Amino acid sequence: MPDQSTFPQPTLQVGSVLHGFKVLRVKTFTDLRVTAYEIEHDQTGAKVLHLHSFDRENLYAIGFRTPPNDSTGLPHILEHSVLAGSQKYPLKDVFKELMRSTLQTFINAFTYPDKTIYPVASQIKADFYNLARVYTDLVLQPRLLKETFFQEGHHLELLTPGDLSSPLIISGIVYNEMKGAYSSPDSLMYKVIQENLYPDSVYSFDSGGDPDVIPTLTYEQFQNFHRTYYSPTNARFFLYGDIPTAVHLQFLAGMLTGFDRVEVDSTIQSQPRLTKPRSVRGTYPVGKDESLDHKTMINIAWMLAENCDYETALFLEIISGLLVGSAASPLRKALIDSGLGEDLTPVSGIEADLKQLMFCAGLRNAQSADAKKIEKLIFDTLRNIVADGFDSELIEGILHQIEFHGKEIVRGSYPYGISLMGHIFQTWLYDGDPLIGLDFPETIENVRKLWTADPQIFQKMTQQWLVDNPHRILAIMEPDPNFSAKKDKFFQDKMNKLKSSLTKEELSQIDTQAAQLKKFQLEADTPEAAAMLPKLRLEDIPRSIETIPTQVGMLENVQTLKHDIFTNGIAYVDLAFDLGHIPEELQPYLPLLGKMTTGMGAAGFSYEEIAKRIALKMGGFGYDLSTGFTADASTNWQKMFFSFSALYRNLPAAINIITDILCEGDLSAEARMRDLISERKNNLQSAIVPSGHIFAKRAAGAALTLPAYRDEQWHGRTQLRFVQHKAGNFESAKSDLQEKLHRLKSLVFNKTNLLINITADDQGLKLVYENIVPLLHKLPAHKVAQEQKQPQLVSVYAGIAVPTSVSYVASVMKAPAYIDPASAMLMLAAKELSNSYLYKHIRVQGGAYGGMSSFDPSLGLFSFISYRDPHIAETLQIFEDAQAFFSQNEMAADDMEKAIISTIGMLDKPLDPSGRGYAAMMRIFAGATDEMRQNFRDNVLSATPRKVKDTLKDYFSAAAKSKAVAVYSASEKLAEANLLLDEKLILENLIEE
Ligand SMILES: [Zn+2]
Repeated sequence: MPDQSTFPQPTLQVGSVLHGFKVLRVKTFTDLRVTAYEIEHDQTGAKVLHLHSFDRENLYAIGFRTPPNDSTGLPHILEHSVLAGSQKYPLKDVFKELMRSTLQTFINAFTYPDKTIYPVASQIKADFYNLARVYTDLVLQPRLLKETFFQEGHHLELLTPGDLSSPLIISGIVYNEMKGAYSSPDSLMYKVIQENLYPDSVYSFDSGGDPDVIPTLTYEQFQNFHRTYYSPTNARFFLYGDIPTAVHLQFLAGMLTGFDRVEVDSTIQSQPRLTKPRSVRGTYPVGKDESLDHKTMINIAWMLAENCDYETALFLEIISGLLVGSAASPLRKALIDSGLGEDLTPVSGIEADLKQLMFCAGLRNAQSADAKKIEKLIFDTLRNIVADGFDSELIEGILHQIEFHGKEIVRGSYPYGISLMGHIFQTWLYDGDPLIGLDFPETIENVRKLWTADPQIFQKMTQQWLVDNPHRILAIMEPDPNFSAKKDKFFQDKMNKLKSSLTKEELSQIDTQAAQLKKFQLEADTPEAAAMLPKLRLEDIPRSIETIPTQVGMLENVQTLKHDIFTNGIAYVDLAFDLGHIPEELQPYLPLLGKMTTGMGAAGFSYEEIAKRIALKMGGFGYDLSTGFTADASTNWQKMFFSFSALYRNLPAAINIITDILCEGDLSAEARMRDLISERKNNLQSAIVPSGHIFAKRAAGAALTLPAYRDEQWHGRTQLRFVQHKAGNFESAKSDLQEKLHRLKSLVFNKTNLLINITADDQGLKLVYENIVPLLHKLPAHKVAQEQKQPQLVSVYAGIAVPTSVSYVASVMKAPAYIDPASAMLMLAAKELSNSYLYKHIRVQGGAYGGMSSFDPSLGLFSFISYRDPHIAETLQIFEDAQAFFSQNEMAADDMEKAIISTIGMLDKPLDPSGRGYAAMMRIFAGATDEMRQNFRDNVLSATPRKVKDTLKDYFSAAAKSKAVAVYSASEKLAEANLLLDEKLILENLIEE
């Protein structure tokens, strides 16, 4: 293994010519540990960038500049459609096939306001090139069938097929996806701001598609757009990982053979600068019975400098961090302390994925009448800052954050290569230097130099780009209880008018076409077409589980887990407190305990001072609550985590801060407490439309198992209602709240409940051990009695009314333990259900954005869910039909193989260093040994169609008794669904006012 602390040695020189490519530039980056190559393809002019690293998760992405010229969502519909199939791979849905038949660790496509990017990643070389080969062919030479356009974009159909008297409706996957996006207050706010701040540029259009405009898009426009922009000449190929550059070039040379240079002007034009500020108004949906008081979102948005002016852009990003980035930020504080609104709008901060940067600051849950006051407050605060300067510790904190994040190896749900790619495209797309800003130490040094030369540089730029900058808007977003009804009425009128303009023959033609589309969707691909896709050989699938180094120890009578992993000079520490003894009445308060502990003052420091210390000495700091069954389901565990990360040199200071926070946390600042509660309430509330399926699953799961009940109590609608109540009655609730939190603190922050989990290399592990002892001495240690009383679980069959124009449907059953032999079969079945049956019936035919199934032995649940779904009753029926179908039919051998591959892919999802340490700890809580994990894997690998069918038949028939259902949707849709359902949903409002 090469020395991972350096970077891969350059293998090509500037000026080298290889396989028809010319190397333009080679640059190494020490902290990132990569060697970068900028390359151009002679024949086509295609641009290539490879970041050669030690990471075995290789990433390949093709990006095109795709400037929209209307809001039909053309780039977005095309993004969905090219992945359907090509001449070479003439299947109906190649994307789905790749997803289920490869060991991809990431496969996706993104439509941005001005570009479209297609990334794939894998840890296995053969698999990686299979994916890259097919993806390139799809993108450059797709079939773009009319049926695909109808299915992904839009088409007309009769509500009741065959009945010419029934209403005309529009269906389409992107159409429904965007209807969901247009129900989200945050998305609507962002859209209003972007469109009005850049009124004369491509950003005035919605590349994702406005549901009112999508139906005007024609098939011809759709084909033309592809012809114009999807050429190698207009492409940017981004590669990341440990495969050598020369190997990539040989592959790309093969893919680009036969293509010529196609000149197209896709330059993204800059928005001309406005000379006068403007103001705009928009509305967003709220529940019919919701109060409208204090529900307006008010923002000021500025257009700033060009991304390619890197130095200015960097300073502006730092200034954004200074103004609103942390609890110590002066503009954030001024806005919150003003009491004019509850907390900052989620768009507050900088947006760098546009040609010219944007900065926003504003308040949510404000009053429309206060808009001018808020505007004045923002400008007064900025002027004061310009006069007095920024706190230099705040600036140091941000420079430390840049250094930290430049070193950190992170992989959340996205591969590390994706975040680097995002950074690079911010300049690369606009013909700027793609590598600028990747050298983080150099970046920090430059900032320091300029700052030393001109100590007032941050103030001067604040003055120039914010105070004196007339290119800005005041955006007011008001709640409208009739938003959805108006939209529906507008739509129905339009449809009625359209319908009455059509002859009977035309209507019947629409009906026939819709029926033909359904037929096309149901037809299986021919075996010849299916055989065209490259197949992963079974020997390419790793047979053994990967293990994570874990050393169990004791320090000062506290259990420790040490994971010796290369982390590039960063230590990750999780303090896990057991919650098994927390009485029921205090359980709902636990998330607030986390929020207050991480957000308030401590040890004589105010919360701003603590926030500043955190920014200066830690990379990250947060809390989490988690619970689950043990692997044999004999019992369950509940934990609260406080996790932080720090550069080795900052470990002593970081542990000091944690010690202050946990041992001397201060809950007396009432105003701050109220703000934190409001923030939590607002964050939960705005998560509902984007993650409605998760909320629905939680609501149903709570009926079935204790871990799922806790999950809903801490993170679901029960928690939202709880904090809503506390926020709304803060004055009368505060003393009770403080008393409960104090009790919780003494119950939770207790040495006898603690486990310390440390992830770092040998040096880091030693440093944590040496420095953490004073914390252990200071933490109280007293015996705790286990709580005996368990909450009563009650059945759930709920329709939860929320202001949205699409639905989220969940049907959930109790599932067996991880070590039960049925478990591996259920996990395989959930994959296969998601990839085939539910995908076909709910997404392809039903027009929902998603339909899936999941098996979660930790919460003890097997779930069926749909996402941004136009249907409710039909979807519940499909869930039932799917169970019957899988209980009666064996999977085809080929499907079985794919289900095995995609299940293994899921088990082998790559983790970053801190994720590996965390996963190892969770396995210890669950008592899941490596032997059990290998056994589970063996069961997956040896599964047969017969075994799966027999397991499902027994399982579904037994588990049906435990079924719980929850649907999040608009109240009208829920009432309509109840007309069709035998067992009626019990309706409730999300927010009771
Ligand atoms: Zn989409």
